[in-house]
Amino acid sequence: MATDLRLPTDKIVRPDKDRFLNEDNPFEAMMSRFDRAAELLDLEPGLYKVLRHPEKQIVVSVPVLMDNGEVEVFTGYRVLYNTSRGPAKGGIRFDLNVTLEEVKALAAWMTWKCAVVNLPFGGSKGGVVCDPLKMSVGELERLTRRYTAGIISTLGPDSDVPAPDVNTNERVMAWVMDTYSMHVRHTVTAVVTGKPVEMGGSLGRREATGRGCMIVTKEALRHLKMPVPGTTVAVQGFGNVGSVAADLLVKEGCKIIAISDRTGGYHDPAGIDVRHAIEHVKKHRTLEGYLGGERITNEELLMLQVDVLLPAALENVITSKNASKVRAKVICEGANGPTSAAADAILEENGVFVIPDILANAGGVTVSYFEWVQDRGGYFWTEDVVNQRLTEIMCRSFADVLDLSRRHKVNMRTAAYMLSISRVATVHRLRGIYA
Ligand code: NAD
Repeated sequence: MATDLRLPTDKIVRPDKDRFLNEDNPFEAMMSRFDRAAELLDLEPGLYKVLRHPEKQIVVSVPVLMDNGEVEVFTGYRVLYNTSRGPAKGGIRFDLNVTLEEVKALAAWMTWKCAVVNLPFGGSKGGVVCDPLKMSVGELERLTRRYTAGIISTLGPDSDVPAPDVNTNERVMAWVMDTYSMHVRHTVTAVVTGKPVEMGGSLGRREATGRGCMIVTKEALRHLKMPVPGTTVAVQGFGNVGSVAADLLVKEGCKIIAISDRTGGYHDPAGIDVRHAIEHVKKHRTLEGYLGGERITNEELLMLQVDVLLPAALENVITSKNASKVRAKVICEGANGPTSAAADAILEENGVFVIPDILANAGGVTVSYFEWVQDRGGYFWTEDVVNQRLTEIMCRSFADVLDLSRRHKVNMRTAAYMLSISRVATVHRLRGIYA
């Protein structure tokens, strides 16, 4: 059913490139999209103020006994951006570049992402400033457990549910779950998602984000009346999201003509053998030394003449500096924030159809939601059921966003923000302000 947004139909704001001056500040980049959608929604000033602020920000010092006998103190964050629609949902990242601004932006992103696919969740994010590649397994476990203890007052299946993110994985989630369970004195599987299947994880979770990208790419091609078989695709980033999306797109008849990772890119107009590339990465950890294509740079990959470009590595790779050179007809944003706000306007002018990150990569959080539902029900689904329900949600969400974008003559990103902000705003109006 179409969402009622109380939108004045004659008020269509055209992108104004000068509004997006700070391409590097992640919170400002995200908020410039929020502002544009809020303006189109004619959001009342009070609600606008509420939604521009995170609900809760926690900063913790995390002392860890290192293997050399010395104590190091790390800084950890957890931000709950908005919980009006349900428990906060968002990953934990371990990285030297983690900042409070970034965690705030990512927590807001999670709020809009959960709302755009209509999950009963709010948004959160967490991070610890550390270099996990230089830490032993024991140090990482102690760091994870002490960080979890530091933020434990927010955690819980009804309040805040973490998941893996950059440099955290199933094993880290198992430690978070165990630490929480020890504190509350009983086993609580639903306190995290992205866990090992053996302890309450969901089948299909690992592939979910890439599968979601494949599903919405097919929906976009159908909308643009482009046949799926023979569609040419370039994929930046060949990790969890990029490699799974590439593999599934090949199964749908697409031709992957370029792939890349942190070691560089590989181009073969006749089609990359994706299975072979996946085997190479399994063996060597990266694509370095892969012989199935001509070497290109990551920047060159973004400029290839392809039907679909799938950035699935980093944020801010398509900016005001290179957006005008993008020749793809469709961009499916597997990564979070691969396109800067300034680049949005240029891509729109050039007629590129962008499936925005909050929709394109929502497959992961959707199956995280399935994991939480299965844990709470104590009843687990087959992989086929998981995939079928994921397909339903991704197709319905794509159709909802497309419908809004057509009705209000805005691009898919603005429509996705309008849809999600309106859903969060509706709940705020119904709940009112507790005083
Ligand atoms: P990953 O670590 O499995 O893979 C990342 C890939 O990007 C690797 O191939 C890496 O070599 C490559 N990469 C790193 N630096 C690069 C560079 N400078 N140039 C080109 N490639 C580079 O991570 P992932 O889980 O696949 O996540 C990728 C993106 O998708 C991130 O933006 C992440 O936030 C987003 N995302 C992931 C999920 C998920 O479920 N995994 C869900 C939503 C969004």
